[in-house]
This record gives sequence, C-alpha cells and structure tokens, in this order.
Amino acid sequence: MSNQAKAVVIHGAGDVRVEDRTVASPSAEEVQVDVTLGGICGSDISYYSKGAVGRFTVTAPMVLGHEVIGTVRDVGSRVGGFEDGQRIAVDPSSPCLTCDRCREQRFNICLSPIFLGSASTQPHTDGGFSSLLLSKAKNVVPLDSGLADELAVFAEPLSVCVHAVERAGGVSGARVLVAGAGPIGCMLVALSVASGAAEVVVADVAADRLEIGRRLGASSVRLVGNDDLGAGYDVVFDASGAATAIADGLERVRRGGTLCLVGLPHGGSVPMPIHLSVTGEVTVVGSFRFNHHEFRRSLELLTGGLNLSPLISNRYHVHDAGAAFVEASSGDAMKVQLDFSQSS
Ligand SMILES: [Zn+2]
Ligand SMILES: [Zn+2]
Repeated sequence: MSNQAKAVVIHGAGDVRVEDRTVASPSAEEVQVDVTLGGICGSDISYYSKGAVGRFTVTAPMVLGHEVIGTVRDVGSRVGGFEDGQRIAVDPSSPCLTCDRCREQRFNICLSPIFLGSASTQPHTDGGFSSLLLSKAKNVVPLDSGLADELAVFAEPLSVCVHAVERAGGVSGARVLVAGAGPIGCMLVALSVASGAAEVVVADVAADRLEIGRRLGASSVRLVGNDDLGAGYDVVFDASGAATAIADGLERVRRGGTLCLVGLPHGGSVPMPIHLSVTGEVTVVGSFRFNHHEFRRSLELLTGGLNLSPLISNRYHVHDAGAAFVEASSGDAMKVQLDFSQSS
C-alpha cells in the first residue's frame, strides 16, 4: 500500500494548496488512518483568511484541519482493539499530562498542549486534512455503525459545546440565550434542547443563520437590531465573540446566573458592564476546547440521534479544497465538509 497522501496545506493568508505528502508507518503506539471526511472549522478559516488565529501566525507551511474521521489502515505493535477498516474519529487534542493543569485533570487548558492543525507550536503541528494520517492510538475513538460519516465529523466541534454546558453548570430546566448562530452557537442550541433546557433563545444579526437555529430546536429566534433579546436568562452563552454581544449578554443574565464565553473576542479587550457581575453575582466563565471524555460524550450524543445535519452547507472533494475554503470563508456558509475518500 502506498504511503502517499493528499494534504491540504496553508502557506499564508489566502494561500491553501493540495500537496502530496509521504506519511510514515505507525510507531508502536500509533494508528494510521485513511481519513474519509473532514469539517472546516472557524480556526481553519482564520488561518486561510488572515494567515493566523489570534496571535498564532503561520510562519511555515502547515497541514490544516482538526475535525476528521476515517478508517483504520494500520496499527503499531503495541496497539490493540482495532480492526483494519474500522470506522473511527480522531480527538485532535493531546495534552502534555504532566503540567499543573493536567494534574488537576483540566487537560483542555494544558500549559503545553499539542493540537492538530495549530500554529501555536514551533514547528507548527500539522493537522488532519490529509488522506492518510498518523494518530496516537489513545486519540482514536471507534464509531458506532449506525452513525453516518457526515454527522460523526461533528464530534470535535460538538465537544466544544459539551464542555461549555459543563462550564455553565448545566442547563437542565434553564432559560438559555445563545448569542451568535454560527456553527458553535447552533450546536449549543441543539445541545441545550437535548440537555433539557426549559427555553432556548438564539440571537444573531443574520436571519438565515437564525433559521438554522430554529431547525435545530430553538424555542424562538431574535434578529439583533430588530427584535428584543429578552432578559432574566439563567445562562447566556456567547458564541459570537463580538464585543457588543458579550457586553449585552451580561445585561441579560438574571441575578445569580451565568455568562459563559465560548467565542474568542476579536481584537482582545471588551468593555463590560461589570458592576452587574458584582451586584448581581453573575458568574462569568470562559470555556476553551474540551477534554477527551467530552469528545466521547459528543459521539454518544450523535449516535443517540442528535441531528446536526441542518448545519452542513456543502461538501467538496479534497482536490477542490481551494473552492471549499472560498465558500467556508464567505460568511454565508455554516459547515463545509471535505471528502478525502480514494484521494491518495
Ligand atoms: Zn473545530
Ligand atoms: Zn499539560
């Protein structure tokens, strides 16, 4: 079998190329995966449109992608429990396991993490948008035969939402406002509904995104600038990263409630009416990535029928990755998927 792969490589802003790469055979504790499907994430789009995510700038060519599923092609000598051709999802996160945060089991805020497709490390960490991929066996999770590929590939972004609900202290019986109806906001809607929230309101500046929020189960949708967003919510999730929305979110939480920040604010500092957090004892929490048990939990939720298919905008073959990134970064798309099947 050939170890040649087709990989989606970012060289800088606006410069994504499909390149041939040679992938090594698996070492003792690795699994070699034939990647079948990938999802383009906000961070991939940021690398494409700006050449950076926050302060992490692409300074050398890097394979993009961290939302991937595939099938097992080969396993290392110390790897058991997998069959050739078995369908799996790859958890893209590898905490160091030795730092103070890892010792507290807060692996998602590890002090020196490795994350697929990230320019946070030097050299950069190549991602999963490669038709052939090596992964540590402990990051590889089997897929249920009843779970379709196009839904299984949501495991990673849904994990972000599972972690956010956990950080918010749960939403069972709660009145929830989700600010921002992008992919993460819409998944927070679906997850809050599935988690027993009493009411889930979603707000955005774009009516077409709100319609997807409605299809994913929102009790009501509010067009920012047009509709009243309401107040007295037990939990407000900010999935927009917009300064005005974050400040506004704090005004809409009830006394003793929680504002959970999931979207990364563009440009750093955000002015906040922080007196409301003091006098109303509103808890403001940040939420970042997820832990491995939350990745497994999100696969259970998807297997159990959490249907995120309204989020799929389009699917491109890896050979057309350039067009996929143009669509994904257009602002009109929700989730664009990349098909890697039979591409090496
Ligand atoms: Zn992602
Ligand atoms: Zn660590």
